[in-house]
Amino acid sequence: MPAFHDHPLLQSLLGSLAEQGLTRPTDIQQQALPPLLDGRSFVGVAETGSGKTLAYVLPMLHQLKELDVPGAAVDVAGSPRGLVLVPGRELGEQVARVFKELTHATRLRVRTVLGGSKKQIARQNVSGKLEVLVATPGRLTQLMDSRQVRLDDVRMLVFDEADQMLDPGFLPVAKRIVGDCPKGVQLVMFSATMPGRLEAIIGEVFHRQPIRVRTKGSERVVPTLRTDNRTVVHGRRRHLLLDVIDEAPGQGTLLFANTREQCDKLGKWLHREDMPFARYMGQMDRNQRRENLARFRNGEVSLLIATDLGGRGLDIDRVERVINVHLPKDVDNYLHRVGRTARAGRKGLVVNFVTERDKPLMEALRALGAGG
Ligand code: AMP
Repeated sequence: MPAFHDHPLLQSLLGSLAEQGLTRPTDIQQQALPPLLDGRSFVGVAETGSGKTLAYVLPMLHQLKELDVPGAAVDVAGSPRGLVLVPGRELGEQVARVFKELTHATRLRVRTVLGGSKKQIARQNVSGKLEVLVATPGRLTQLMDSRQVRLDDVRMLVFDEADQMLDPGFLPVAKRIVGDCPKGVQLVMFSATMPGRLEAIIGEVFHRQPIRVRTKGSERVVPTLRTDNRTVVHGRRRHLLLDVIDEAPGQGTLLFANTREQCDKLGKWLHREDMPFARYMGQMDRNQRRENLARFRNGEVSLLIATDLGGRGLDIDRVERVINVHLPKDVDNYLHRVGRTARAGRKGLVVNFVTERDKPLMEALRALGAGG
């Protein structure tokens, strides 16, 4: 089991975490700490409650503390080195609290400028020296206009709950804020969902391709996924499959089944029709798996037969369609399967082959709003 002290964090931070009873990183923390401590740009899809706040607070404090040495400490008022943008006051206050529980050890100064609280207070908050600023975009740009805040010493800029900031005016504001930061600023974004508009913003404001991470809990059905449920009549699964493939031949398609035997059978059906395909299963040798995946990725074949074990880690751009030739028993596997398509704001389609036996799953999916 991973522990915070497996990460190269300052002793003072590890001590404060331990005082709060925090010893083991959550999934998003475990995934985000290494690239963030390494100074990489980063996009994390993680919902509230996943521990995403500490996932960026720890690396930010760690890096800023390392800079905070005699001769290099902050010496200008209103000039943060760490900047966190939040959609609203409530989240801003919550984020500031998480910082403050760790800053008594690091002695770094955290201030807020949040919409919905008095301008006078915001001004006061940035009138002295500080290391970290937590801000809403509107309030921040007002203070940039009046030159009470300057961003030319910002080392790390975090957009938190970015999907909550997506009003039409956000892109120019985000561009302006990033533009005022030094060129080498570390850009970080956390969001519960990744709609296309947010992808567009990442494309516009991130200087480099970010490292991307998603938590297991974020594998919910995304709005760009369309669900098409087809009933298997009289066990005629093969006919249905060939029909469905024919509806969009050439489309990058994952075909899921539950067992190796089922996969073999699918393979035979396709082979008989002269339809090129590859397989991707847990039981296969790694090199073979990699080779098969490459054939799918480069378009040599459009059909990839997979089991859940094989499907888990797949991150391929070209999956336009998932066909559940055999539906899984549980919701978790279902969400993993459909999470292979409609990624990063793109459109995707899932076709479910439904029989009597799949009723419990379909009901559970409907309850989640994911049943189509
Ligand atoms: P967040 O997703 O950042 O809003 O955090 C949700 C809650 O999880 C907060 O109450 C945190 O204090 C708590 N939390 C964050 N990280 C951990 C951890 N590693 N272990 C236990 N609880 C945590």
